[in-house]
This record gives sequence, C-alpha cells and structure tokens, in this order.
Amino acid sequence: MTDIKKMATKTTAKLSKMKTETKISGKTWPERDQTTATTINPPTYRGSTVLFDSFQEMLKVGRHEYEGITYGTDRLPTQRQFEEAMRELEGGAVTRVFQSGIAAIQTALLAFTKSGDHILVCDNAYGPGQRFCKKVLKKFNIDFTPIPPNVGADVEQYIQSNTVLILLESPGSITFEIQDIPAITAIARQRNIITLLDATWATPLYLKPFELGVDVSIHSVTKYISGYSDVLAGTVTVNERYSRTFGGFYKQMEIYTPAEECYLALRGLHSLTTRLRQHEQSALTVAKWLQTVSIVDNVLHPALPCHPEHHLWQRDFTGSSGLFAFTFKKDYTDDQLAAFIDSLELFHLGYSWGGYKSLLTAAKIMRATPSRYAGKTIVRLSIGLEDCDDLIQDLESGLAMLT
Ligand SMILES: *Cc1c(COP(=O)(O)O)cnc(C)c1O
Repeated sequence: MTDIKKMATKTTAKLSKMKTETKISGKTWPERDQTTATTINPPTYRGSTVLFDSFQEMLKVGRHEYEGITYGTDRLPTQRQFEEAMRELEGGAVTRVFQSGIAAIQTALLAFTKSGDHILVCDNAYGPGQRFCKKVLKKFNIDFTPIPPNVGADVEQYIQSNTVLILLESPGSITFEIQDIPAITAIARQRNIITLLDATWATPLYLKPFELGVDVSIHSVTKYISGYSDVLAGTVTVNERYSRTFGGFYKQMEIYTPAEECYLALRGLHSLTTRLRQHEQSALTVAKWLQTVSIVDNVLHPALPCHPEHHLWQRDFTGSSGLFAFTFKKDYTDDQLAAFIDSLELFHLGYSWGGYKSLLTAAKIMRATPSRYAGKTIVRLSIGLEDCDDLIQDLESGLAMLT
C-alpha cells in the first residue's frame, strides 16, 4: 500500500511541477507577456499544422532526425503529458492514449497479432472486446478461444502451437472472477506468448500489472481516472520488451486523442487517490449491508472473504474500487425487477461506471464457458460519491418492493 501511495503522490508532485508553457518545435512562448498566463492546469492545444522553425529543421523529418512534434496526429503536448503521467503511475515503458477504452483494447489486439495466429481471451473480459475478436479478428484469420474467467496455471491446456497472445481482465466484467495473473504470465513468458491485462476496475493505484509479469496494461480512462462521466478515453501501457512494436504501430496508424479529453483525464488523475478511497469505503459498506439482506444470495465483491478468489485479490491487489454485484435467492420476473429498480432515487440506470453518480445495471449473463452465475440475474452497482447511508436507505426501500 505504501509504495503505491508513494508512487501516486510522486506522480502528483511531478505533474504539479509541469510547466504550463510547453515547447513545440523548439520555440517557447515568451516568459511573461500580456498574452500568456500561468494557470495551475496546462494549456490545451488545438492544431493540425505545427510550425517548423526553419527549412533545415523540416528537412530533418525526412532523415528521422527531427525531435519535435511534426503534426496534429503526432500527439500534441496535452496528450503527451497525460501519457507520461500514466506511464509513470503504471511503471511501464511506453503509454499511448486512445479515444475510448474499447479502441485501446482493439488496437492492442491488432498490434500484436497477424493472420494465422491464435489468441486466448478470458471469458469475463469486456463484452465488446470479445465481440471484436469474433467479428473482426476472425476476418483476418485470427482465431480465438474463450478461457475460464478464474483461469490460472490451467491456462496451459488451452495453448496451441500458434497461440501468441492472452487477454486477461481481473476482476472481470459483471461477474468479478479473478485470474491467477502471476501463474499465467509465468507460463506465457516461457512460451513467448504476450499477456495483456485490462485493469480498469483496480485503476493503476490498486494493481501493478507489470510487477505480476504482464506485458501490456490497458485502462478505460472513461471510468475512475476521468471520474465525471464526461470523457471517453483509454490507455495502453507496455513494458520495455514491446515498446517499439507498440509505439511503432500507434504511429503508423496515426491514432491521436483530442487535447480536451487528455486535459480532463489529466485533471481527473490529480483527485483519483482521494475519490477512489471514498468509492472503496462506501462500496464495502454497501456490500456488507447487502450480505445481511434476506433475499440477497451472493455478493460478488473481491474484498469480501466469501468471494471465491478472495485470496488472489488479497495477494495481488492493494485495494478495491466501487463496482460490484449481487444475485438474488429467487428468480424474479422483469416486472418485479422493474418495481425494485425504477423505485430507486439515487441509483440511476446506465452503462459505464466510475463516476460520482451511483449507477445500476441488471441482466443475466451469457458465457461461453461454465459459469457460477449461469441463469442468474446479476445486479451490478457502481457506488458513487453520494452519502453512503442514503445509498443504503435507497436500496433498502427499493428491495422491499420484492418482498
Ligand atoms: C468500460 C470498459 C471498457 C471500455 O471503455 P470505453 O472507454 O467505455 O470504451 C473496457 N474495459 C472495461 C473493463 C470496461 O469496464
């Protein structure tokens, strides 16, 4: 805990020292004149054309000797600042930003595969990412096999001679199973298979994928990092070994992320530690309360001792966030569920999570591999920053509609 806290503080300290005047192509704005101001947060740049100082400087581009930013798609300064903050927080070699979390997943998959390859994807990975494997990678003759959501050393039995990549997400979407990450990465390393981990739930504060042997760490910045449900963004951070492949692919594709999104993500990062602490506390309080409710069956929260992979969470994570789920003992009709859900005043219905407003989704899950929760309605809660007693009271009166 202390190391991560230190790292978070260190990054924050470093961010706060960042100059608000940013050098583009060798020129800085004048130190003090009537058209500049030193604000706490960095300026955002809008631009397609980026000017060169001289023709000699422009000629350097063709010789791959130019060190400045060449064009609007060459990652403008606000993007580079956010990338650097994330890279440092993650302890990786290279970070790149994307216009959404799903774009980050898709591009990472494309960067590290080619026709004829086979990949493994844990069955609780973010649904749209799995659909991308089925609908798009398949078109390019890249085959995929879903593996159990709580896979560990048994990953070995799914590996084929052409397996090149394993995509993990821990805890996974909707059902919160946890994979034995170090067991999987040890096996993958031996066989030269690259491992990707979507660590959105834990944020860079509560899980250090590179310390567990992961090669590529993915985050949906849309969630806790930006924190206000008004940004779509994602990041991919890679270790030294894959930094050239990934950095090169990003550059080749000329992907970039608009400055406003990077600015908001960077701003979110400054309050992440504080917000997450509150999400964590409130979610644990609500989860423990739900365990006392007679009609509730399982509470799917990795930090509760009853969670089947609680020991793995305890070993590998340094905290829990505000997203978890529960199931009912009985199977209710949609009309009964509607009576409960629509009566809630503080929990709103909507996709995504990680913002200040509490959200709820409820559905039965579809899995390709056997699931503990097959056929069960899973109610997922994103615990926001409202007063925790109010949230419990809201759920209490809502759940009373079912009894
Ligand atoms: C939301 C989410 C994504 C996708 O992020 P977007 O920015 O919404 O595209 C990826 N992975 C996980 C685990 C998510 O929850």
